[in-house]
Amino acid sequence: MNPAIYSEFIKPKDIAINDQFWGAFMERVRTKVIPYQWKALNDKVPGAEPSYCIRNFKLAAELTHPDLYYGVPRDIGFGGMVFQDSDLAKWIEAAAYSLAWHPDGELEKTLDETIDIICNAQQDDGYLDTYYIIKGLEKRFTNLKDNHELYCLGHYIEAATAYYEVAGKRKLLDAMIRYVDCVDKNIGAEEGKLHGYPGHEIAEMALVRLYAVTNDEKHLKLAKYFIDQRGQPPLFFEEETRRNGNTFYWKDSYVQYQYYQAGKPVREQHIAEGHAVRAVYLYSGMADVARLTGDDSLLAVCGDLWNDIVHRQMYITGSIGQSAYGEAFSYDYDLPNDTAYAETCAAIGLAFFARRMASIMPKGEYADVIERTLFNGIISGMALDGESFFYVNPLEALPQASLKDRRMRHVKIERQKWFGCACCPPNLARIIASLGSYVHSANGGSVYTHLYVGSEARLAPGGRELKIKIETKYPWEGQVDISFALEGKAAFSYGLRIPSWCKSFSLKLNGDNAAYSMQDGYALLNREWQDGDRITLTFDMPVNLVETNPHVRDNSGRIAVTRGPIVYCLEEKDNGKELFRLHAGRPEDFTVTYGKDLPEGLCTISFTGKREKDWQDGALYRNLADAAYEDKKLILIPYYAWANRGAGEMTVWIHK
Ligand SMILES: [Zn+2]
Repeated sequence: MNPAIYSEFIKPKDIAINDQFWGAFMERVRTKVIPYQWKALNDKVPGAEPSYCIRNFKLAAELTHPDLYYGVPRDIGFGGMVFQDSDLAKWIEAAAYSLAWHPDGELEKTLDETIDIICNAQQDDGYLDTYYIIKGLEKRFTNLKDNHELYCLGHYIEAATAYYEVAGKRKLLDAMIRYVDCVDKNIGAEEGKLHGYPGHEIAEMALVRLYAVTNDEKHLKLAKYFIDQRGQPPLFFEEETRRNGNTFYWKDSYVQYQYYQAGKPVREQHIAEGHAVRAVYLYSGMADVARLTGDDSLLAVCGDLWNDIVHRQMYITGSIGQSAYGEAFSYDYDLPNDTAYAETCAAIGLAFFARRMASIMPKGEYADVIERTLFNGIISGMALDGESFFYVNPLEALPQASLKDRRMRHVKIERQKWFGCACCPPNLARIIASLGSYVHSANGGSVYTHLYVGSEARLAPGGRELKIKIETKYPWEGQVDISFALEGKAAFSYGLRIPSWCKSFSLKLNGDNAAYSMQDGYALLNREWQDGDRITLTFDMPVNLVETNPHVRDNSGRIAVTRGPIVYCLEEKDNGKELFRLHAGRPEDFTVTYGKDLPEGLCTISFTGKREKDWQDGALYRNLADAAYEDKKLILIPYYAWANRGAGEMTVWIHK
């Protein structure tokens, strides 16, 4: 590993987004999703499953401080999932990023008051998990495998560091430092401690993030311990299960402890296995620890896992986790479209992993995956009005199958208001609200732009302030105008990602063709820069027909339509029923239309394809004969926008 090429991604507070595309999503998160989720966390959404999240914290605070009373009856008990605390943490994190983008005194006050309640629930030794505070502290740390204490801790660290970075307020951060101290006293390598690690990963990357704020080696050491200890024989989860009489749900499954990525040491894991969200959260933490400790063996495994996911187990939408069984990876080249699990959180986690890999080595394929997930499999998780959500993101939907085929009972054809297990909506809110932090990265001698998002950013390559302004109508148009503001002159290398979907582009500097070199997917301009320098990058953005490696059974004989980073789909609303009867053929008459028929503007694509005609006799079978086709105008909309106009069929992959 070469530390000289590490580049740090920009922080949300150092970039102001004013992008036509993403600005609308961020505004929706700010004005719709964050207030809506606040209601949901307080059980005030009519018709939605109650969250009990805030109630749990109030009750835990009352139990911790007998003089406190928030109006929650003390005998009411814990409500919701064992990991319910994490939903509030994700909401706090999203709200913090939203404040960076759009200051809001009322929201900040709500945050502070909520943090007061959280801190009132904290125990003297720092412990803070409402499930055990309410149900009995004697049981804490007895089921790290399934009871998510360290998962909730991880999300609270993420929330606390985000709020500290944005608002400079330490109360939640200090509380989390105390909770980490408590965990560190109970779990670790030393004799007398539990030699355990999280059943649902995230604490690993969260502790690294905490370390970046505190510089306390203890925080990095604990993250490294969780990773190094994971899956070491004898298996901690096996011993814990035996010792405490816990259940082991995966006993009769092929996946066993690899459901948790804990069946063998992480350095022996070369194929993505088990629960997909956990997996990519772990790999994100592994990449972080590999970077900070210069651990080449860990980085090599991250590379293997990356390759397995991206080249053999990732949907074209950037979604991952094919199997509803275990919400998990299945096997290489298995990419079923209709039974896909493709959890929104898993695509988000893949973006986390990609960002960390891009920080270690600026290769275009990492940021390509960030872009692929963001524009497709992540934002498909949210309705265009910001008020309903997908947990599962199929690439093919058939209403009657979702209703009557047991294998597809997880596949909803309409977004839901909320979920009992509401991991995805707040996760969406936090990634969209922090989108700015994916745009640029910098180290001493280089600046990279990974995503083309209308924005004004402040960086400091080599300690000198540089402002980068991006203006663009991406992803609908291919032109990106970039300008620099800096005092005096500065020499550094500037890398612009050339997306893998782009086969032709032009790059101009101050109006003239720019001299650049291509390196790992980036066009590099290495020169002395000065105030007012302008770059115009123009991508050709034709409609592409994409096919899949022939190993992929489900896409055999089928194509998908893409333009720029956007994956398209057919919907029943535009193309009628039985979308599987449609054939693309070899069209050349593509029409790209920017329209406003959906809640906001987006590009639709149309072209002349074919539709297989009905048989005259209506028989179910016949001897092979030439099929009869009729010309049919096919109309495609961006995949992320499907299911915004009522329920109906949808497919991404179309017969050739
Ligand atoms: Zn989720």
